Amino acid sequence: MLVVRKIKEIITLVAEEKLKGKKIGFVPTMGALHPGHISLIEISRKQTDFTICSIFVNPTQFNNASDLTHYPRTPEKDIELLKSASCDLLYMPDVNDVYPEKDVREFDFGYLDTILEAAHRPGHFNGVAQVVSILLKNIQPDLAFFGSKDYQQVMIVKSLVKQLNLNTEIVACPILREADGLAMSSRNMRLTGEERKIAAQIPKWMQEAVLIIKNEGVDAAKRFVLQKVDQVPEMKLDYYEVCEAETLMPLKHLSPGKNAVSLIAVFVGKIRLIDNWMIN
Ligand code: AMP
Repeated sequence: MLVVRKIKEIITLVAEEKLKGKKIGFVPTMGALHPGHISLIEISRKQTDFTICSIFVNPTQFNNASDLTHYPRTPEKDIELLKSASCDLLYMPDVNDVYPEKDVREFDFGYLDTILEAAHRPGHFNGVAQVVSILLKNIQPDLAFFGSKDYQQVMIVKSLVKQLNLNTEIVACPILREADGLAMSSRNMRLTGEERKIAAQIPKWMQEAVLIIKNEGVDAAKRFVLQKVDQVPEMKLDYYEVCEAETLMPLKHLSPGKNAVSLIAVFVGKIRLIDNWMIN
């Protein structure tokens, strides 16, 4: 696996691979890799001929300075994991390579940028759009793979690609979970042993809430989740919402033929975790 630190090198390498007729796959990450990230590499390897991964903790998407400082960084381990996964190329830049000058672009995602993560992390998706647009414009992959764990992010990135008329297809990939159901996340390694056990309740409550949504409606499910979270002193609910899966418009009841998704953000101690659960 090649490891490069300059975007200019990638542009040349990708051009060479494309000349050979190869289809390019791209998996952007912030590192501290876990099997969830590796599943994206595996999907890319199945669907393309040359897989590029990036590891870059993007400062512009953090609306909380302490979260950025404490974001886990495990570069040596990441490189080993990517090698084992047969990733072809790793881009691991410095901030200056991605942002030679300050990025002052403001994106407009309309409704999508007013709800859920956008409402609770102002500026977050603008930072995501900045970095993803720079990476996609330079690398020009045929396909880019994103995890459905960041459900709203996938929708934002799809909208970004449309707005900028980019030639990359965005592929949403399934959420990988730990044996106890907790969605894999780089942030999980910051949980204490006790917090880690507590966090495993999140997907269980979301699953239980599905039945309540079906039988009693969304408001009852919201009361159920809030009450469960409130019973645990280490936890604080940021939001729990049930939305139409295609648009993320809030729902009160399920409608036949339309998919729904429940989305949650919870603090466990100081760590903010997100997850979502599809409801058919
Ligand atoms: P991150 O490093 O957290 O920015 O994540 C990089 C990519 O990996 C994003 O597209 C995430 O949605 C995806 N990802 C993170 N956790 C998981 C998971 N548990 N299962 C599948 N994809 C994931």
